[in-house]
Amino acid sequence: MRSEQAFKEAVKVMPGGVNSPVRAFKSVDMDPIFMDHGKGSKIYDIDGNEYIDYVLSWGPLILGHADDKVTAELAKAIQKGTSFGAPTELETKMAELVIERVPSIEMVRMVSSGTEATLAALRLARGYTGRNKILKFIGCYHGHSDSLLIKAGSGVATLGLPDSPGVPKGTAENTITVHYNDLEAVKTAFEKFGDDIACVIVEPVAGNMGVVPPGEGFLQGLRDITNEYGSLLIFDEVMTGFRVGYNCAQGYFNVTPDLTCLGKVIGGGLPVGAFGGRKDIMEHIAPAGDIYQAGTLSGNPLAMTGGYYTLSQLTPDSYAHFNQLGDQLEAGLTEIFAKHGVPITINRAGSMIGYFLNEEKVTNFEVASRSDLKLFAAMYKEMAAQGVFLPPSQFEGMFLSTQHTAEDIDKTLDAFDKALSAVK
Ligand code: PMP
Repeated sequence: MRSEQAFKEAVKVMPGGVNSPVRAFKSVDMDPIFMDHGKGSKIYDIDGNEYIDYVLSWGPLILGHADDKVTAELAKAIQKGTSFGAPTELETKMAELVIERVPSIEMVRMVSSGTEATLAALRLARGYTGRNKILKFIGCYHGHSDSLLIKAGSGVATLGLPDSPGVPKGTAENTITVHYNDLEAVKTAFEKFGDDIACVIVEPVAGNMGVVPPGEGFLQGLRDITNEYGSLLIFDEVMTGFRVGYNCAQGYFNVTPDLTCLGKVIGGGLPVGAFGGRKDIMEHIAPAGDIYQAGTLSGNPLAMTGGYYTLSQLTPDSYAHFNQLGDQLEAGLTEIFAKHGVPITINRAGSMIGYFLNEEKVTNFEVASRSDLKLFAAMYKEMAAQGVFLPPSQFEGMFLSTQHTAEDIDKTLDAFDKALSAVK
């Protein structure tokens, strides 16, 4: 097995053998699979195994692997050079496209990752409002900047605690954490700290505790409370952007935040993030305003090419395709799990699909955590052995691309059926 050997070499030189923790496959208790290449809905490992890919680089590859148009445009772009450190016209074209598609965005700044997008949006919210605290939801992930790596303090609407060594206590105290879908807790937090809360940051569909959609009225409730207290509402659409709908989750749910963070799909597999929103707020960013943010490779020509030719190939029909395949997958999973007597709860939003080995309705992280993680790990290994590459964690969703087919879904369902027979 070349993957095994590759991992032995990798752990000698990289922490845990990887450049991002989830790639170590720890929560499914196996060694990582090293990948070689991908095409369409398929990915191939260095041992020559083919998998139907539902990870899609953790979201970016909405057109599938190595899309013909994207790779052809990248090949052209690379001939012109890889980075200039001066503006290019493609950056404006990309900004125009993002503004056209994302309802809340009137002005946008490109960065190189989702983490950068959220940390800059928080600085902007704090600088603009002159306030210190932020409110986030337990189980939502917004990248790894200090203010956002915070776990809940004890009790409802208390100040947070560091979730990782290295995050200062003083920083954690400025982050308030409450449960997702709990508007009452948000109200309590605002009653207590409202005049010092700069913003609420939320995944409009949570995708980092498995897929958890917002309950009826939750997003509008956040809009109303933040308006009432003069706080900003930030949608972290790094995962949901262009996945949940043609006009992102904010278009789908018809709730408009003040600021939006983007990443993943917006780079089509190249390192891109972005934050944008109301023009009167964005104009506080340097050099138009005095809130500092910068990046040597921000708006990089290859990254903009990957993003532009990904976004410009998406159409409303792409989302009809996702819904059709999602319906097929949901119906099949429901039937197969019932046949095996294994509880399952399925949550969906556009091309994001989450299945929980849990019979309760999953509305927040606490409920998601009660899933059968042991069975998940056992089933995961069987699925991989049958050529289905799923996210290696119960707390991550599956993604679809425009290249996935009804036949892929049929094969996947068949693999679930066999995997359940094997593990029970
Ligand atoms: N926000 C959300 C909602 C995310 O899902 C992620 C990454 N999974 C991030 C931010 C951070 O993005 P990146 O990994 O590009 O820094």
